[in-house]
Amino acid sequence: MQSSEECACLDPEQRSEWERRSVGVDETKGRFGEVSLERCARCRRVWLCYFVEYEGFSRSGRWFRAVVSEEEAARVRPETAAELLASKPWHIYGGSYFGHAGKRGVGGEGSVRVDS
Ligand SMILES: [Zn+2]
Repeated sequence: MQSSEECACLDPEQRSEWERRSVGVDETKGRFGEVSLERCARCRRVWLCYFVEYEGFSRSGRWFRAVVSEEEAARVRPETAAELLASKPWHIYGGSYFGHAGKRGVGGEGSVRVDS
């Protein structure tokens, strides 16, 4: 196990290995966001991931991911995922909506917006 702060999972440009677990679908406002938890196989951090896209809107696909605590991971529900992501000091975001495959968002940059 590697406890380095510089694990590849923190860098949007790098790939890491994940143990993925689906949390479910967030049907709030009919957005059908796919929520999952991914545990990094190297550093064991848990990431909360949210993906949504809107049929009929091209380039609407977007995803957000942020590190959450074990406790948050245990408690999160599809309906609370977007709020939890938005409460984090930073996150990684990407998708066709943003036109890139992943960047680090801090503060208002790439803020978590999951509605069309
Ligand atoms: Zn990692």
